[in-house]
Amino acid sequence: MNFNQLPLHERILKAVTDSGYTKPTPIQLKAIPKVSKGADVIGIAQTGTGKTAAFTLPLLSRIVDRTEAKEARHTRVLIIAPTRELVQQIHENIRGYAKYTNLRTGVIYGGVGDKGQISKLESGVDILVATPGRLLDLVDKGHGNFHQVEALVLDEADRMLDMGFIPDIRTIVKKLSKSKQTLLFSATLNKQIESITKEFLNSPSLIEVERRASPAETIEQSIYEVQEHQKTELLEHLLNSSHEFYAVMVFARTKLGAEELTTALKMEGIATEAIHGDRSQGQRKRALDDFKKGKVRVLVGTDVAARGIDVDGVTHVINYDFPEQSEDYIHRIGRTGRAQSKGVAITFVTRANQQALKKVEKLIHKTLPKKKAEGFTYDQYAPELTREDRRNKTKVAKKSGRTGEYQNKFANRKNNAGAKRPGGNKRKPSGRRTKRRR
Ligand code: AMP
Repeated sequence: MNFNQLPLHERILKAVTDSGYTKPTPIQLKAIPKVSKGADVIGIAQTGTGKTAAFTLPLLSRIVDRTEAKEARHTRVLIIAPTRELVQQIHENIRGYAKYTNLRTGVIYGGVGDKGQISKLESGVDILVATPGRLLDLVDKGHGNFHQVEALVLDEADRMLDMGFIPDIRTIVKKLSKSKQTLLFSATLNKQIESITKEFLNSPSLIEVERRASPAETIEQSIYEVQEHQKTELLEHLLNSSHEFYAVMVFARTKLGAEELTTALKMEGIATEAIHGDRSQGQRKRALDDFKKGKVRVLVGTDVAARGIDVDGVTHVINYDFPEQSEDYIHRIGRTGRAQSKGVAITFVTRANQQALKKVEKLIHKTLPKKKAEGFTYDQYAPELTREDRRNKTKVAKKSGRTGEYQNKFANRKNNAGAKRPGGNKRKPSGRRTKRRR
């Protein structure tokens, strides 16, 4: 089936043709007819399935003509999504799909001044894309007109739940008209999501697209077994070993971890930027733009910040820290190998990650092949320290000034650095990481 067989407005179709889409994706085929009819819909789909177009195209089609006739100042479509990057991306997509219409679009997110967003709201916005916190802030202050919202979209509802946004959403929804259409998208359907759908949706249709349980065939996946303290070194070694690593997305577990790793890579002379919640909106946008333009070779991010980011041409995804949720493995590696291009996904695995690795392998129905980096001196893949071992080591360290592990790391850095850099080590190794923040 083609797009022109779907109930879409001709001006929206024209923009879709410009985007180069030839065929609707499965979620679009299933969702567009239902959304066009005004039904409430639960969409179980992940990023990368074309879900943004699945809800925006029919909603835009529905309001094109009436908006032009009425020139109303109230918001008619409200889309709520968890992160700044995601709302910006959805807004960008909408601007593209709405380019042959007079629809007014707006985007609202925290971390930047609110003056511009307020004046935009006051001037009238047909379609608004927003993160929950800032939206609630502005609504509370009386900005915007949301009494006649015709359609509400809750995108990535599972993430919004994880991030504690549901109370904010509840407050916002109370201010909207009861007769509106509500669409909810989530990567998973669990008990909590079910209870949210019961609260916010009215006799919804459930649409589920094939879980991408097996990531794209075009992604070459492998694991590198390494001890925790050698991970940074191994990453540097890999990045220095081949020019094929030219657009690399690295995932770290915590904001602090991402920041430390970025600093370490920069010190190695590798153009790297970080993208996580502690960076200002401007910094995150700049980092992403520079990565897209190729000015920055490595983008280090946390799951939350990097979620939904859609960058073409990512050559490698490196799971520096093993994903905490098995599903995140699929989300993460889906940043590469997009649109049939080839991609490589590398995962560092420590002893402590063995159980989690088994879970991921079960999810993707595949045993991940083990690889070793050529020319890299691995410390013996010893068992991870138990809590008691660590306590004992600390006692020893207090006496001698350094832990055995630290000495090991230092010696090893020298070995590996010596192999690739005749000049030796340029910088002092950093100590073992202390407590990390998420
Ligand atoms: P999403 O799942 O909404 O994040 O979309 C993932 C990517 O697929 C985006 O880059 C879209 O521009 C693209 N896309 C959406 N629909 C189609 C389609 N029918 N054909 C090709 N690409 C699409």
